[in-house]
Amino acid sequence: MKTTLTITLLVFLFSCKKEVEIIAPVEKPMPPIAVADTVIIADTIQPPGGFSYTKRKANLLNQKSWTKKVQKDTLTGEYKNVVLLEFNGYDATKTMWNVKVGASGSTPEEQRAIVDSANKYYKYKGFYFTLDEELYNKCRPDKRFRVVLTDDWEWYGAAGGVAYRNSFFWANETPAFVFTSLLKYNVQYIGRAVAHEAGHAFGLAHQSLWVNGVKVNEYNPGNAAMCPIMGYLYSGAVAEWYTGLDPFGNKQYDGRIIEEAGGGKYDGQGNFKPWGTY
Ligand SMILES: [Zn+2]
Repeated sequence: MKTTLTITLLVFLFSCKKEVEIIAPVEKPMPPIAVADTVIIADTIQPPGGFSYTKRKANLLNQKSWTKKVQKDTLTGEYKNVVLLEFNGYDATKTMWNVKVGASGSTPEEQRAIVDSANKYYKYKGFYFTLDEELYNKCRPDKRFRVVLTDDWEWYGAAGGVAYRNSFFWANETPAFVFTSLLKYNVQYIGRAVAHEAGHAFGLAHQSLWVNGVKVNEYNPGNAAMCPIMGYLYSGAVAEWYTGLDPFGNKQYDGRIIEEAGGGKYDGQGNFKPWGTY
């Protein structure tokens, strides 16, 4: 009888323990790299006035110590994913790109402004852009991404930037690229291009312009006041995430896709719960 009671008690306690067990949020599964996934999106559209083919003397402008000097980032608990902006050259030979590139030619002040710009576009979306390589290295491979800023564009061809769509989820160090000299070292163009290329890596296609069921522009130009970041990103007074038709004619909710890539969830009734709150 006593044994039965003890067993019953143990079973009871065990059940209780089970009930209060905290369910960890389900991590986004990492899809394997398949041929169908390896879609390179090259942004050959040019900023107003066209690309510039004049380069600064990058080696004089880009030294690790300079970047360290302007480094002020500290990671708070608010962020789940880290995006490293690499301005000092990068060896991507072990990634899907198989290329080694040199530095960006951006000054420390420009680098800081570009990081701030990217963080402005990704505020509350679960991504934190930084110059801090140590911070990046501390992150899990599936919680980090790298955007390489370089004035070496010749290996790919003239483009503002290039990325593999969804490459963030591969978690294999494959970066996106932004080509600084072609964008005239212009902080606004480059900041928007970083947001745009990262957007591809996080799953976004372009925002296209459709008229009467016909795609008339791969890049929706918006208007003078506002352009979609995933459209013609260089033109508007401000650039924003947008809800509109993608190049395939499907409605694309930019903000929502990025928030979900960042680890947030929707409750099915249109209410978004940022990561860490569910
Ligand atoms: Zn693009």
